[in-house]
Amino acid sequence: MSSVLSIHQRLERVTPELFTRFFYAKKVPEMSCFWCHTANMSIPQMDVTPVAAYNPDSESTSGGASQSSSYVGYICINPTQPTSVLSYQYRIICKKCGFTNHIAVHPILNWLEENAGNNREV
Ligand SMILES: [Zn+2]
Repeated sequence: MSSVLSIHQRLERVTPELFTRFFYAKKVPEMSCFWCHTANMSIPQMDVTPVAAYNPDSESTSGGASQSSSYVGYICINPTQPTSVLSYQYRIICKKCGFTNHIAVHPILNWLEENAGNNREV
């Protein structure tokens, strides 16, 4: 049984780079809006600043030590089942007309975890 925390931990490993690599691996053509066909799409991202990287004594703001990362933002569509991976989706939003695509998280998590430990580019 997986906990709520472990699902969020799994989802936080999906960086924007891995997200786009997944679609490339699955041979999905360039993302464009289903309605207006523009390619001007946005993927919500959440920033993560590692606690260990925060150093108030550091005067440098450009050093590699204070790197933050980000992961693809997701939504919970079924709050009554927060431990189910099926309750979560990604959104890809058209910046022109606002049409929103919803993508189930589990194919991406499965792909990511199947390829974990495999350093080859997929
Ligand atoms: Zn659109």
